[in-house]
Amino acid sequence: GAPSPDSAAAADIFEQLCAASTFKSVLYHYRQLCDVLRLKPTNIRSFYPKLKSKLRSWKAQALWSKFDKRASHKCYNHGKACSNNKVLIIGAGPCGLRSAIECQLLGAKVVVVEKRDRLSRNNVLHLWPFVISDLKQLGAKKFYGKFCAGAIDHISIRQLQCILLKVALLLGVEVFESVTFEELVEPPADQEEKIGWRARLSPPDHPANQYEFDVLFGADGKRNTLHGFKRKEFRGKLAIAITANFINKRTEAEARVQEISGVAFIFNQKFFKELYAATGIDLENIVYYKDETHYFVMTAKKHSLIDKGVIINDLADTQQLLHSSNVNRSALLDYAREAADFSTNYQLPHLDFAVNHYGKPDVAMFDFTSMFAAENASRMVERKGHKLLAGLVGDTLLEPFWPTGSGCARGFLSCFDAAWMVRSLCSGKMTPLEVLAERESIYRLLAQTTPENLSKDHLSYTLDPASRYPTINVRAVLPFQVRTLFDTDDPSHLEEVTNPHLVNSDDLPKKRKRRDSFIHPDTLLVWCKKQVALYDSIHVDNMTTSFKDGRALCAIIHRYRPDLIDFEALRPEDVAQNNQLAYDILERDFGIPPVMTGAEMAECEVPDKLSMISYLSQIYDVFRGEIP
Ligand code: FAD
Repeated sequence: GAPSPDSAAAADIFEQLCAASTFKSVLYHYRQLCDVLRLKPTNIRSFYPKLKSKLRSWKAQALWSKFDKRASHKCYNHGKACSNNKVLIIGAGPCGLRSAIECQLLGAKVVVVEKRDRLSRNNVLHLWPFVISDLKQLGAKKFYGKFCAGAIDHISIRQLQCILLKVALLLGVEVFESVTFEELVEPPADQEEKIGWRARLSPPDHPANQYEFDVLFGADGKRNTLHGFKRKEFRGKLAIAITANFINKRTEAEARVQEISGVAFIFNQKFFKELYAATGIDLENIVYYKDETHYFVMTAKKHSLIDKGVIINDLADTQQLLHSSNVNRSALLDYAREAADFSTNYQLPHLDFAVNHYGKPDVAMFDFTSMFAAENASRMVERKGHKLLAGLVGDTLLEPFWPTGSGCARGFLSCFDAAWMVRSLCSGKMTPLEVLAERESIYRLLAQTTPENLSKDHLSYTLDPASRYPTINVRAVLPFQVRTLFDTDDPSHLEEVTNPHLVNSDDLPKKRKRRDSFIHPDTLLVWCKKQVALYDSIHVDNMTTSFKDGRALCAIIHRYRPDLIDFEALRPEDVAQNNQLAYDILERDFGIPPVMTGAEMAECEVPDKLSMISYLSQIYDVFRGEIP
């Protein structure tokens, strides 16, 4: 029959939605579409089938068949894998949106809050082959016909967000713009209404303040607003990156100019010497992508920034060095333009800057001297009977170094891994500690991933880490090692779930169940001697003074986990330090609480024998039966 006026209007709005290219217009057309079709975004099983039945154009059907194919992966269990869960995601960057799509496919209800009201980043992301394949499978070309055409392997951040936003919305994700996550709100003391976890958002009267959820993803980029995740810092040598975007007028002359892909040029020392000789610009590398803009990212040497007047005073502190008050903005623009001009052989006819978020020429300078990574990717908090699973994805988990283009790819992997964690929790087959341990095991691989060491069969990628990481060991971290990642207010629950006998019975060698059995001190001493036998400088003759300088304890740890201790670097005179190191590792990685501090050990002449026996018994319990 003839289409009803509503469905004709819907088809029209759908076309506009597909073509929309700003945050505002995408959301506007989407909300219009939902109004006309009388649909409310919710979980995939109630939203998507209705949407699909009402939009039947050729383009719509082509999209649905892509979505259906993805949704048919076994791991989603027909959108029922996590149908009882509610997810809040902080940030609508590429990784917030990518993980929202996965949680939605798992059947959860998903809300994304984004503090910005615009998608305005011109900068261009390098995409690894699996990311291109992933986005094509999600229908990227239907929204952006030029997506990775031919040999193109990059996309502007803005365009990527736009594609992912549309996919997320069409699957039923709810996205709120201009909403900032402030903090997590615990379930109230009065549990008559059984209110669970919520977020304090601004503006405070936004309805999403009432949303209750049991899964929270921090996808808020480099800055990291979510508490409870410690960060470790990697300090490298001074690294100053400059990004610059020039307007692409798409003329023939522009089309002829060659891109500079990252890897090729890093080795071309001759080029950098010539650049320096001709311009005084000294770079370590430069990348140029021709995308919606002409995009350049380069790492500049400090001296040349000073010589060219970009940096005003040479200050030791990098933050102060690159502070706006110490940067001559117009010299920076000149520097970027000159570098871009030289490296494209003066072939780009007009180097006019594109504008950034603030309407200014889009050139920026960033400090990559120290980069951050979260120590853990997941944690669980329980209050008043409500459990909350929290995870980090994207830049807030592992900060990328832009000039090498690793950011978005590792970001996407972290999205899949985080969604897999939610699925593991919902499977009902794993305890919370097992879920966290599995997530941390997978996270250990992330920083080492490259396009080469990932599985090459991109079409077979699923949430299952085994489909992506050929060498994955999902039990690299054991549940008892992640006890500190589970924070609960229910002491009985803590006992229950943190007692390794109860949760790890499958993971641990069976004999460890005899943990409380009495270990004869003689047996213990023999065991300790055996552990250090291969360490020439260590001799254990007793349970007290032999352990005084801390190196014997360190040797035992080192025997099983050489990755945790640099044994060769230990000096016998650093008594407090050596002991503290061992205590910290034993507590953090093996859940053995210390009986004293390193300084206390250094002060006492002879350590207390009973305390030592008790402490060493626990160490014995952890390691016996393990293969060194
Ligand atoms: P992001 O893309 O940073 O997204 C995080 C989102 O969270 C943002 O939209 C932010 O507004 C939002 N947010 C933050 N806090 C809150 C809050 N409290 N409440 C609600 N929302 C919040 N990578 C490159 O490879 N090359 C580049 O040239 C490059 N340039 C970049 C320029 C800028 C200015 C930034 C910020 C990042 C750049 N990156 C670049 C990094 C790249 O964008 C990311 O690796 C990629 O986008 C994936 O990151 P993400 O989704 O984890 O975080």
